[in-house]
Amino acid sequence: MNFVFSPTPVVSVPVLGQDERFPVHRIYCVGRNYEEHAKEMGFTGREPPFFFLKPADSLVVVESGQTGVMPYPTLTKNLHHEIELVVAIGKGGRNISAADAAQHIYGYAVGLDMTRRDLQNEMKKQGRPWCIGKAFDHSAPIGPITPIAQAGDVNNAEISLQVNGADRQRSNVAKLIWNVAETIEHLSAAWELQPGDLIYTGTPEGVAAVVAGDVLVGQVPGLESLEIAIS
Ligand code: MN
Repeated sequence: MNFVFSPTPVVSVPVLGQDERFPVHRIYCVGRNYEEHAKEMGFTGREPPFFFLKPADSLVVVESGQTGVMPYPTLTKNLHHEIELVVAIGKGGRNISAADAAQHIYGYAVGLDMTRRDLQNEMKKQGRPWCIGKAFDHSAPIGPITPIAQAGDVNNAEISLQVNGADRQRSNVAKLIWNVAETIEHLSAAWELQPGDLIYTGTPEGVAAVVAGDVLVGQVPGLESLEIAIS
């Protein structure tokens, strides 16, 4: 088949210990999924999970052992970090039950849901979509995917982010309001999941601003860490 111009290449993420890469389909994100983060954003109580998306080509893919580079985005004066466990879907489906969810998971990675907080807050105030605050270019740094069989017990793992060597976020994945399996159940009721989908599962408390020159290190023991510099 010929195209009127060259199609955008498939975005892919490296897989720990393999030459084959994980081709990305969509990026789903869960909002306010840790209680202490919901509180710091001004919300309390368990609400049904809600979702937003980022374009696949908003990923900043960081290869194993490398430090990635994220350019400081336009339009914002308040770029926030959100460290998140990312679920990589290997087998699609709709109406997947939480009990069956593990069969659909290819692996896990450490990711950052970078947020132009000032723009997101303005959109919230106006009741408008969050896209400009959440789904901008380079807004989704991600490290290599660890296949589920090689990953540790990520559902009970510490999740942390350091900026320039100092702790900013530290919690445990066990504190997710909607855990990974429940998230897959809710998400697959709304969209048909496809192999290649990534799910950013939400961030714990401690979100704050970064500036050009900062170096961010995100860690979930049992997974490859993510290191990225803001330029
Ligand atoms: Mn987030």
